[in-house]
Amino acid sequence: MHIPREVVDKIYQNIDILEVVSDYVSLQKSGKDYKACCPFHNERTPSFFVTPAKGIFKCFGCGKGGDAVTFVMEIEGISYGEALRQLAQKYKIEIPENASQKPSDDELQKQNEVDALYIAMQFAKNFYQEQLLYTEEGKTIGLSYLKERGFNELTIKTFELGYATSDWDTFYRTAIKKGYNPTILEKAGLIQKKEGKNEYYDRFRERVMFPIHNVSGKVIAFGARTLKKDKDTPKYLNSPETPLYHKSKVLYGLFQAKKSILQKDECLLVEGYADVVALHQAGITNVVASSGTSLTQEQTRLIRRFTTNVIVLYDGDEAGLNAAMRGVDIILEEGLSLKVVWLPQNEDPDSFVQKHGTNAMLAYIQENAQDFIKFKTKYLLKNAENDPFRRGEAIREVVSSIIKIPDVIQRNVFFKECSQLFGIEEEILIREGNKILGKELKQKTNNEALSDLLQNDTDAFLEQKATEFSSVYHQEHETMRLLLCYADYPISQDVVFGQYLLKELQGLQFETPVFQEIFEIFARNLHEGRLLSHHDFMKMESREIRQAVINLISEKYELSPNWEAKAGIIVEKKDEKLNQVAYEAIMRMKWKAVQRMMKENQKNLQQASTEEEQDRFLQIHIQLKSIEQEIAKTLGNVVR
Ligand SMILES: [Zn+2]
Repeated sequence: MHIPREVVDKIYQNIDILEVVSDYVSLQKSGKDYKACCPFHNERTPSFFVTPAKGIFKCFGCGKGGDAVTFVMEIEGISYGEALRQLAQKYKIEIPENASQKPSDDELQKQNEVDALYIAMQFAKNFYQEQLLYTEEGKTIGLSYLKERGFNELTIKTFELGYATSDWDTFYRTAIKKGYNPTILEKAGLIQKKEGKNEYYDRFRERVMFPIHNVSGKVIAFGARTLKKDKDTPKYLNSPETPLYHKSKVLYGLFQAKKSILQKDECLLVEGYADVVALHQAGITNVVASSGTSLTQEQTRLIRRFTTNVIVLYDGDEAGLNAAMRGVDIILEEGLSLKVVWLPQNEDPDSFVQKHGTNAMLAYIQENAQDFIKFKTKYLLKNAENDPFRRGEAIREVVSSIIKIPDVIQRNVFFKECSQLFGIEEEILIREGNKILGKELKQKTNNEALSDLLQNDTDAFLEQKATEFSSVYHQEHETMRLLLCYADYPISQDVVFGQYLLKELQGLQFETPVFQEIFEIFARNLHEGRLLSHHDFMKMESREIRQAVINLISEKYELSPNWEAKAGIIVEKKDEKLNQVAYEAIMRMKWKAVQRMMKENQKNLQQASTEEEQDRFLQIHIQLKSIEQEIAKTLGNVVR
């Protein structure tokens, strides 16, 4: 499973962090950087920055940062090796056969479980694709069904559709033969254990397989549609929740749709897998499905990474109408603009586009898309007719949707519009809204107080901050930063800064373990004639080292010019005063070391049993004291 060094280098040479990050979030240019709302924590104003010149990203909200590889690791939850593999695939870089071979059973067990699950899902996807295209049953049943539905070859390929045959354990047996571990296959939701036995069978049988991809295109689950007509068989069977698949956090088709959503700045939301596939084939590609569940907060936030405009397409029947009234408030709550389109009676997006074609579909959406709150108001009003009680209910319903909108100005626009539709004074609607808000707020506060009690994340955060600001850390941090940023800076004709610093720091210990580790690696390499820079450290396998290096070289004022102005901090150009700064940093390290030695010496002095010993330690003390004073003079410290 090891990837050869040359290949790793090649991957790094090809990586464009903008391209990599853009697979997951929509970036906006900001000076020489790019910014976005952070995909790792929830926020509405961007504090997530990408600096292409340095090949790094950094979030000033939650502190996450790193290079493109770290980004992929973090967002996919995969290991370093698997992230490299994914990037190699993205940039069409071949990993030599013996390295990219499917892992043996033994290797699979040793590996990171998440990696193993991804590999198993990928294998399953390929397996079902082959079953669809090359087996008799696949061709006569699966493929002919898909063709009947009007899906062409390109579509089948784009969505990686497949087929699971009616055998009980074809997949299981094939996977085992290839060396896959049954525990992993079971955990991936691909096979199930026979009751009370140590035997397995396939979860998916006699079904057309719709792989469900995550945002970057990895298969994380399957939606499997039966072709049987009998009522006892559920139409769709989905993968269970697995470490890879959390139904509430996934949108079907987002991987295939994200570019188009970005371009059109609009996302169409439909109900079924087949709707997504059909619209896509018709050239309407900015479409995703929530896989049957009503939309969740996580799904809404996924959409918000790419656009803030959502149009929901509803089937033209009673069930669709009811669905429209429920479960979309979450879209408003997350600050997205929401429109709804009502399809004609007995039509769903799939059937409509197959029957009438792309242009008719697009025209229909354009003509019929209405703002959700107005739509809801009209619908409820019509239903309430002149019944005053039901009108009251309707008003409360609509108001409870309006107050979900986080933006005050937008909210007021809706209050105004609805007051006209209801024929009621705006004031009354607003008062009703405040009443509901008050109730909700009370509930929320109770919950929040509780959750605060339950989580101690805050403490860990404060503790970390405390460490960061302790002076030792600060001194070491500064020294490290100089080493990483200016190692190749010539300070005289044949000495570069890295060599100078190394010589000066010889014998000194960094108290922060990761700094010591970096320093040792640096020294070792320099000894062998290699001068390492931060680029080299960012390629190292140790996550801790990479994280430390990122933090060192991505200081706030360097990444975000605005931040500097905002905080009123003036930062000197360090490289102009490099010599002085470096000298100071070294002196501080030395001063620190002397302090440590004096403390130790004092302890020895106290424990000394003979006069001779005491004398010796006193001598040392005097020497150290004079060195300390020497250093302190240069640093301007006061020595007592
Ligand atoms: Zn963040």
